[in-house]
Parts: sequence; structure tokens; C-alpha cells
Amino acid sequence: MNRLDEITNKTLFISCIVPVYNEEANILPFFLALRDKLASLTTRYEMIAINDGSRDSSQTQLQIAHEQLGVKVLQFSRNFGKETAITAGLEYVTGDVTIIMDADFQHPFATFDDFLAKWAEGYDMVYGLRTSRDDEKALKRLFANTFYKLMLSISNADIPPNAGDFRLLDRKVVAALNQTKERVRFMKGLYSWVGYKNIGVPFDVQDRAAGKSSWRFMKLFDLAITGIVSFSDIPLRAWSIIGFLVSCLAFLSIIYTIIDTLLFGVTVPGYATLLIVVTFFGGIQLLSIGILGEYIARIFNEVKERPKYLLNEKLGFLED
Ligand code: UDP
Ligand code: MG
Repeated sequence: MNRLDEITNKTLFISCIVPVYNEEANILPFFLALRDKLASLTTRYEMIAINDGSRDSSQTQLQIAHEQLGVKVLQFSRNFGKETAITAGLEYVTGDVTIIMDADFQHPFATFDDFLAKWAEGYDMVYGLRTSRDDEKALKRLFANTFYKLMLSISNADIPPNAGDFRLLDRKVVAALNQTKERVRFMKGLYSWVGYKNIGVPFDVQDRAAGKSSWRFMKLFDLAITGIVSFSDIPLRAWSIIGFLVSCLAFLSIIYTIIDTLLFGVTVPGYATLLIVVTFFGGIQLLSIGILGEYIARIFNEVKERPKYLLNEKLGFLED
């Protein structure tokens, strides 16, 4: 059956993945609204909530959502982060298409229609594009913009700016993502790395319904470093070029110093120059070791081969 028929006949199986961290006040209204939206679109759907180690009563609320609305629940043993929560969800979905969205009403349900329309046209991945970032703090916006510029220029993954995790994936994209084995996960990079026919559709970011955003600057910074390190080796290679240029300069200055000494004898001044050169290269060396360290830390995390996440409880899944 072609894609459009599946949508018009309401036989398309839609899976929804919702990472949840401290969303107690949002859970019931959110899944109720999600269920209504899905039921209006199709007869076959599933909702999977991943409780990413919430510290509030989210698990109790999810239990109720499971009993009343049929929400399937994966409960992590602790907080593993949103990237990992999405990863876990993707491993459990069974739908023809999968929609990933936040639990705080920031992603409008109306966008589902645009997602499906594009999917029907043959796109395998349709991502939401935030039309404005006005709601965010200037610092976060500046940081995000700089990150995307840097990422575009040095990485081999083409990450569209202003696209987030709110997106629809065809089952083959889900299968492809499930084949990526890295433990340190940067989903935005992986979405673009897997390829497939993709397109963005604009949506207006809504205000968070209840609770507060759990992102901290350091967490975002860490995610940004992970993004760069996982999808680019330019920071590693840059040092060969810098090293080469510095060696050329050093060679020239050696020749200059030898000739200077032969012609004019030993001249004592040069203390300031010496100090500048020593501290400058000390800085460069520490920086390059630090960058090596970023890669090694991630290699170390990968080779330990620990599981990406641990489950405490599963609700609504057939026992395997
Ligand atoms: N979230 C998560 N684990 C975390 C942090 C957040 O699963 O460690 C979930 C959260 O419950 C929400 C989504 O990820 O559904 C987006 O989080 P948030 O609204 O705090 O981020 P923002 O929208 O401000 O970027
Ligand atoms: Mg949010």
C-alpha cells in the first residue's frame, strides 16, 4: 500500500517516543492530548514514555497513564540524559513511522499533520524547525548559533540549525539509527549521519506547560563538545598543521639567530621575547593535550562497553 493510502485509510501504525524527566504535572494532560491527536489520525498507534530517572512523582503518573491511556513505559534506573532516553525509545518502537517529542507541550500536535504530509510525499525523515528562538535567553541563543556555525564548518554531519529532536522518522531510519552502536550519543548528529531523504517543516515553539527546563549551561556545553568530537576529527588533525607551521617559524628564527650571532656577537636582551614564546607555546601545548584528552575520554567510554542505559521497570511491553 502506498503511503498516502495508509494515511487516508487510517491504517498507518504511528509510534510516539516521549522522554520524561521530572514532568509530574505534565504527564496526564500531555498523554491525554497525545492520545486524542493520534486517535484522530489513525487506528493503530503506540505511545512510549521513557522515564529518565525522574526524582518527582513522574513514575506514579506514568503508571496511571499506562493504566488509563495504554502508555508504554520504560523506566531507567537513573538519569541517563535525553539522548539516551530517545535511543532507548527507538529500540522499542514497532510503528511504520515514529514521532519523537517532548513531554512539556512545547512541540505542537498540529505539526503531526505537516510531518505526515511530507512523509506521504516520500520523505523518510521530517524534522521540526523552530521558527523563533525568542523565548530563549540571549546567552543560550548565542551559544547555540556559534555551535551550529562551528559544527557546519568542521563536521562531516550536516546538521540543520534550529532543528531539534521533534521529528518523524520512517521505520527504515529507525532501523538505521539502531545500528549505530556508539554509547556516547549525539542524536542530532546521528539523524543527519544516517542520511535518507529528509526535509524540515517550521513550527512555533510553545511555552512549557508546567515545571521548568532541566537544561543547564554545562550540560549543553558538554553535549556540544560531544557533538564536535563525535562527528569531526578536524580538532585532532589541526595540530599537525599548527605544529608544522610553528616548526617552520622556529626553523626561520634559528637561522636568523645564528646569522645574527655570527655577525653581531652575543646580545643579552631578549628576555621579554623569550617569556612570550615560552608561555605561548606552553598554552598551545596544553590546549592540544586537552583536545586529545576529549577524544581519549570518549574512546575510553566506548571501549568500556557498558550498557547505554539500565531499565528498572517496563510497563506495557510483551515479555521477551
Ligand atoms: N529530558 C529527559 N532527560 C533529561 C532532561 C530532559 O528525558 O535529562 C526530557 C524532558 O522531560 C522533556 C525533554 O527532554 O520531555 C526536553 O527537556 P526540557 O524541556 O527540559 O528542555 P528544553 O525544552 O528547555 O530544551
Ligand atoms: Mg522543553
